[in-house]
Amino acid sequence: MDKGQYPQAAEIFERLASVAARMTRPRQAANLFLQAGHALVLAGQVAAGIKLAQQGLTILADVEAWELFDQFGARAVGELEQQGQRDAARQLSEWIKTRRSGQPAPTPDSQPSPQPARLPGKCPSCGASVRPDEVEWFDEATAECAYCGSVLQTQD
Ligand SMILES: [Zn+2]
Repeated sequence: MDKGQYPQAAEIFERLASVAARMTRPRQAANLFLQAGHALVLAGQVAAGIKLAQQGLTILADVEAWELFDQFGARAVGELEQQGQRDAARQLSEWIKTRRSGQPAPTPDSQPSPQPARLPGKCPSCGASVRPDEVEWFDEATAECAYCGSVLQTQD
């Protein structure tokens, strides 16, 4: 991604996503599908990118992880808007609404409250940016990287 090799990056993310899906790690799989989709959109393959994003979100819908579904969905739509892909953003957001309708509203605050300042900025394992609101918290001091599943320790 950093070198601008988006199609290659998309291919790698997609491969990782299938592996993660097989390993029944829906969160990681969904995240990787969305990353792959994002990379394809950056490479100009918008329709294919949206399809991957939908695949990722479907994984979350299948396991009824609606809180994550909303969170990841909103991020994907936001990224499309940021890239000036208005139509694509609208299309994805319509799809999300349809997929989401009739499902329970997300339960707020089911996780221990995140402590943003204390996590490392990047995952020491895979180098992905760590977003405190996206990691899975095990306890107050330990979280799991949303991308590779590595354990992240908070810093003092
Ligand atoms: Zn990681």
